[in-house]
Amino acid sequence: MDKIRTRFAPSPTGYMHIGNLRTALYEYLIAKSQGGDFILRIEDTDRSRYVEGAEEVIYSTLKAVGLRHDEGPDIGGNYGPYIQSERRGEYLTYAKKLVEKGDAYYCFCEKSDTDEGHLESGHKDICRNLGEIEIKENLKAHKSYVIRQKTPEYGITKFDDLVFGEVKIENKEIEDQILIKSDGYPTYNFANVIDDHEMHITHVVRGSEYLSSTPKYNLLYESFGWEKPTYIHLPLIMGKNEDGSVSKLSKRHGAVSFEDLIKMGYLPEAIINYIAFLGWCPESNREIFSLRELEHEFSAKRISKSPAVFDYKKLDWFNSEYIKSKPTKEFVELAKPYIVPVLGDMKLSVEKISMLLQNRISKLSEIPDLIDFFGQLPIYGTELFINKKSKTDKEISENVLKEIKEKLSELETWNYDSLHDLLIDYAKKNELKNGTVMWPVRIAISGKTTTPGGAIEILEILGKDESLSRIDKAISLLKGEK
Ligand code: GLU
Repeated sequence: MDKIRTRFAPSPTGYMHIGNLRTALYEYLIAKSQGGDFILRIEDTDRSRYVEGAEEVIYSTLKAVGLRHDEGPDIGGNYGPYIQSERRGEYLTYAKKLVEKGDAYYCFCEKSDTDEGHLESGHKDICRNLGEIEIKENLKAHKSYVIRQKTPEYGITKFDDLVFGEVKIENKEIEDQILIKSDGYPTYNFANVIDDHEMHITHVVRGSEYLSSTPKYNLLYESFGWEKPTYIHLPLIMGKNEDGSVSKLSKRHGAVSFEDLIKMGYLPEAIINYIAFLGWCPESNREIFSLRELEHEFSAKRISKSPAVFDYKKLDWFNSEYIKSKPTKEFVELAKPYIVPVLGDMKLSVEKISMLLQNRISKLSEIPDLIDFFGQLPIYGTELFINKKSKTDKEISENVLKEIKEKLSELETWNYDSLHDLLIDYAKKNELKNGTVMWPVRIAISGKTTTPGGAIEILEILGKDESLSRIDKAISLLKGEK
C-alpha cells in the first residue's frame, strides 16, 4: 500500500477553532498511527476573509500541541507551494482542461460569484448551454466570467465514507458549483481537489459539514480520471445549552478556540487529550493519553458518527490530572505568571505557594482568586471567627490570638515544623481542639474561611513580621467590637 498522506488545510481566520484542531489531530493520528506523513496546507483563496498574520496562529497552535507536520509552507516539501494563493496559476489551467472536456463551462451571468442567489431557479446554470460562438465573443470582449462545474442532470453519485458509510445524492440536486471566481481565484471547492491530488493525499479528513459537497469533488476526480482519496468525515461537535439540549458548539457555550482555552488556564496537552475523545474512543476505558501514546492507540475505525458533546467539566478533569502529574518545578513555572501579579510588593515564595495549589486547581486561571489574600489582607468581618465545628467564637478567638501572638513573636526559627509544634503544643497545654487554635489564626492571617493550605502553611509563607501584623489587626478588630 502507498504511504498514507493526510493534510490539515486550515483557512487563516485568525483563531483555531476546537473543531479545526480536532480535525488536525485526527489527520495527524491517522497518518502517524500508520507511519504516514502529515501535511500542512494553508487555504487562503477566499481573499475577502483574509486576516493579516493569521498564519502565525496556525503554526503556533500546532507547535504548542506537538502536531509536527512533515511538509508545509514553512518547511517545504516535494509538492509545494503549500499556500493556495501561491498555486493560483495552476487552478485556471486545470479548469480550462475541464472546459475542453465539456465538464465545466464559462458563466457570464452577473453576480455569478454569489452562487446561492444566482442558482435560485435550480441547481444548473443557463450558461451551461451557451453556444461556442457566443462564448468566444464574450471572452474576446473581456466580459467578466466564472467557470462552473458541469454536473450531470440524471442518475446518482455515491461514495463510501469510512465513518458515515455509503452517501448518495441525486445528480439533479448537485449544483453547478463555481470552480474559478471572477477574480481569477479558485473556490475552496475546486482548489481542495486539485491540491489533494497534486499533493498525493490518500486520506481526506474533515468535518461532516463537507459530506454533501463530496459527490461534487468526486465528479471532478472522475472528470480528470484521478484516483479518489479515502474520505473520513468527522462528527459534529455540539455544546450543552442551559436547558439541557445540545446545539452546534458556538461562543455562547463558552470558549471555542484553542487560544481562549489557553487563556483560561488549560494546558495544551490536556486540551489535545480531551479533544481526541470528541468522536473517538480507545478499546479500553483508559482516558489519559499523551500524544505519543495516541499515535499508537488511534484507529480511524473507532471514530464515531454520532455528534460529540463538548463538556467543559470533563476538560477540567483532564486538566487537573495533567496539572497534578507535572513535576513540581514545571508546575511552578506554569503557575508563576498567575501568582506574581497577585503578590504585589510582597516578597513571598512562589514555590511554596505553588505547592499549595498543584493538587487543588483544575485550571491555572483559578489561582489569583485563591491566593489574593497573600498579596493583601482582604477586609473581613469578625463573624468569620465564629465556627461551630472548631468551637470558636469571637471571645475565644481573641484570647487565642493574643496568646499565640506572644508565642510567635518569641519564635526564633520560623519554619513549618516549628510553627506546627508551637500551635499544637499550645492547643494541648490548654486542652483545646486543634481547630480552636487553627481557625482563628487562619482567619486572622488570610481574612478568608477557605484557603489553599492551612494556618501553618500560610504563616510560614507570610513570614514572621507580616503574620504578626495581621494577627495584631485581628485582635484590634475583635477588641474594637466590645
Ligand atoms: N479550508 C477548509 C476549512 O478550513 C478545509 C476543509 C478541508 O479540510 O478540506 O474548513
